[in-house]
Amino acid sequence: MSFNLKMFVPVLALALRLFSALPAAGQDQPIPGFPPIPIDATEGQVRQGVALVRAGQKLTPKAWPNGARMVVCLSFDVDNELLWRRTPLPVPLSQGEYGATTGLPRVLELLDRHSIPASFYIPAMSAALHPEMIQDILRRKKHEIGVHGWMHENLPMVADVAKEEQLLTQSIEYLTKAIGKRPVGFRAPSWAFSQTTLDQVRKAGFLYDSSFMAMDEPYELLANGQKTGMIELPINWIADDYPYYEPQAGGSLPDPQLVFEVYRGEFDLAYQEHAMFILTMHPHITGHRSRIAALEKLVIYMKSKPGVWFATLEQVADYVKTQEKEGKIEK
Ligand SMILES: [Zn+2]
Repeated sequence: MSFNLKMFVPVLALALRLFSALPAAGQDQPIPGFPPIPIDATEGQVRQGVALVRAGQKLTPKAWPNGARMVVCLSFDVDNELLWRRTPLPVPLSQGEYGATTGLPRVLELLDRHSIPASFYIPAMSAALHPEMIQDILRRKKHEIGVHGWMHENLPMVADVAKEEQLLTQSIEYLTKAIGKRPVGFRAPSWAFSQTTLDQVRKAGFLYDSSFMAMDEPYELLANGQKTGMIELPINWIADDYPYYEPQAGGSLPDPQLVFEVYRGEFDLAYQEHAMFILTMHPHITGHRSRIAALEKLVIYMKSKPGVWFATLEQVADYVKTQEKEGKIEK
């Protein structure tokens, strides 16, 4: 009995935390530009209501490079202080600052120890506050840096097409200058798209997006039922550190070992499916001692399995694109 209770309490805590951390958007709070679908809507109206961005063709390659069984992508959203932009009190800001002083260096050292690449999505103003971050990432010569907004702005809340476009242009220009090449990957801040974000991301010429959740594997985004040619490398709240350890990053539950178990479960099935596992983390969250230790345990576990390709999302998108052109996509 005591054993059951011991198991039950952390699981319940995890469930409660997940439930409370999930965004209300799309559930009961109307968002500007996104009118609710009424209960008496016709089927046509419902279809219209969900049509803006949908999942198109699955783009799982028939084979991964060099006979690999699957691909693993570790990705880090380097949001730091900007998550407290609306309430910039000194102490909460320092929780974000931790990402630059301590979290990111720990992450980079872990990746070095295991010789694996990762993708980093950095809002321009986060990079501006700590210019050494980009230098530290580039110095490794194996990581990717992608766009994650100007100020970690919530795009539907910007509610101004010209303003949104200007922020995207500025973000691309900032990173292009800082990393010496134009970034090819886009991940929307807070994974939030406005009515026009997909159009803008296409126009800007990104190779891929990583903000949607309609599948576990690479797929093409459809815009109002039309093919876009935009490769989606999907993320998911389950494979993200935020719902487990946040909000407020206050040394919260659950035990990092439980988070490790969830991630391992996600990896194990992806491995069985010969598919893809993308993990999203934040240096100011996962960079803490007990959590980075759990991440290292996961990396060691994944590396112990034969045939795991550790890649950046850019490498995966490049590969998927080539395979699609050559008709080597699973049907
Ligand atoms: Zn973010």
